[in-house]
Amino acid sequence: MILAIANQKGGVGKTTTAINLAAALAHKKYKTLLIDLDPQGNCTLCFVDHQRIGTTVYESLTEPAMSIKDAVHPTETPNLDIIPSRITLAKFESKMIGELDSHFRMKDRISSILRQYQYIIIDCPPTLGLLTVNALVAATHLLVPIQSSYFALEGTDDLLETVEKIKARPNPSLEFLGVVITLHDKRTVLGRDIKNHIKEVFGNKVFKTIISRSVRLEESPAYKESIFTYSPNSTGALEYYKLSEEVIGRV
Ligand code: ADP
Ligand code: MG
Repeated sequence: MILAIANQKGGVGKTTTAINLAAALAHKKYKTLLIDLDPQGNCTLCFVDHQRIGTTVYESLTEPAMSIKDAVHPTETPNLDIIPSRITLAKFESKMIGELDSHFRMKDRISSILRQYQYIIIDCPPTLGLLTVNALVAATHLLVPIQSSYFALEGTDDLLETVEKIKARPNPSLEFLGVVITLHDKRTVLGRDIKNHIKEVFGNKVFKTIISRSVRLEESPAYKESIFTYSPNSTGALEYYKLSEEVIGRV
């Protein structure tokens, strides 16, 4: 399964979900690869020391002689590898001008390593640009985190339109796996109203597991850890573990 985690809004929990879903799958002993496709490199910094980043996803997508294998780094979490990114990835779009295969780079380049992994998780940047399109063309499934906030559904129409375009041509088998509600505050009436509204719009596509707002989840990347090593008994760990079970069950 190649799972793209996308939403063109920033700050909705894409990276937190990518990190902790990948870590949950790895803890369950599935060989898992996390691909950081955001030039911000937040996933990367959670698992790789800045000085040790080396070859990134950018070189492996743009340099013809480069094998994607050179960009795969092991992490301290058993069964979890990462392809890191750094800010140079922001040049990807301009570098691809005039390249006929610009939508297909990711799909083509990862084909040689697919058999080594049961799960590949792609953390997308907060745009619907060429990087996200590359992720959606390469992916078998899409997961959309939606922040439990008043403007939660703003922009989801554009995202779903992009998904329909990609399904029409380059990737007809792309499946919309589901929506995960993140940063949720279940104590407030507003929180409950927003959750109900998201469920009205997306129906059974909404995962039963809802990710609460939690300090532990916010802190863990700063300590270069997933929630499963940083605070294994926290609510956040339990919620991401349950989400991983739902993801496995939906495939
Ligand atoms: P995105 O990748 O969509 O921009 P992030 O995962 O980076 O979103 O989350 C945005 C900010 O919110 C980050 O500072 C992150 O640590 C924090 N955050 C994400 N999920 C939670 C959560 N469940 N509880 C508390 N803070 C969270
Ligand atoms: Mg992010």
